[in-house]
Amino acid sequence: MPAIELNCEVKSFRMLTPTVFEITFEGDKPVEFEAGQFVSVVIPGAGPKGRDLRRAYSIASGPEVRPIELCVKLVEGGPGTNYLYKLRPGDKFRGFFPYGDFTYEPKPGRHACFIATGTGIAPFRSMVFSRALAENPPASTVALLGVRDEAELLYLDEFTGRPGVTWAPCVSRPTTDAWKGFRGRVTDWLRAQGQEFPWLETEYYLCGGSAMIDEVKRILAEKGVQKESIHQEVYYKDPTQVAAPKAPAPTA
Ligand SMILES: Cc1cc2nc3c(=O)[nH]c(=O)nc-3n(C[C@H](O)[C@H](O)[C@H](O)COP(=O)(O)OP(=O)(O)OC[C@H]3O[C@@H](n4cnc5c(N)ncnc54)[C@H](O)[C@@H]3O)c2cc1C
Repeated sequence: MPAIELNCEVKSFRMLTPTVFEITFEGDKPVEFEAGQFVSVVIPGAGPKGRDLRRAYSIASGPEVRPIELCVKLVEGGPGTNYLYKLRPGDKFRGFFPYGDFTYEPKPGRHACFIATGTGIAPFRSMVFSRALAENPPASTVALLGVRDEAELLYLDEFTGRPGVTWAPCVSRPTTDAWKGFRGRVTDWLRAQGQEFPWLETEYYLCGGSAMIDEVKRILAEKGVQKESIHQEVYYKDPTQVAAPKAPAPTA
């Protein structure tokens, strides 16, 4: 479906974690999308010289679900997230969608491994709840979500115990001993898997910051995983990976 512009009405707003909020909305025209696609939200007047900005947000709900759901990490000083954070039921915003080709591709007999950090779980939630996946399920599904502390875990109740999905939340710095799940990053979880893990029989879907995605790709390359089996959606370039400005060349 080609992307169309919609006027969207906010239906609900709630905090999912201390820093991530959910916003649900309905467009003024019917729209279809595939699980994993995103909406490009117009941020009015936030750009240079008062021009509009655009920010991409993966749709976190299944393609058959209305209203549509987004889950957004509030970024300090970020124009996109602070605009959405102030919206309340009845407010309107403009969005273009659907965009993106980070979608679930059924491959008979292959396993699926979804690897996300933070709100990178959004497209996987849409996929896991989609008819496309239910009708053509992977041989098995493992879903990893990496967060810093347990309060930032998203959709824990929905994924835990879901038939056919092994849910592996990874908490790198748990705040209490009550956390009984995996301690470490998603990359530590992957490294802890041995020969029994179906490395070469799996399709990998990676979503989140660039540092995690690059490190996971290095691990998968060491295991002999082909590039064609790796699908990715980079939400942002990690600050540690942004090149420092070049020093001016010395003058003679
Ligand atoms: C295809 C696509 C889909 C996306 N889907 C989502 C989504 O579903 N939910 C979501 O929260 N974001 C998502 N993003 C990121 C989003 O587009 C914005 O970049 C983000 O919301 C920050 O926008 P901003 O204008 O508030 O801040 P900016 O000033 O644009 O960003 C400031 C800094 O915030 C950091 N940052 C950006 N996004 C995140 C994040 N998600 N978690 C932690 N730090 C971040 C980066 O270091 C960035 O440089 C997606 C990005 C892409 C490319």
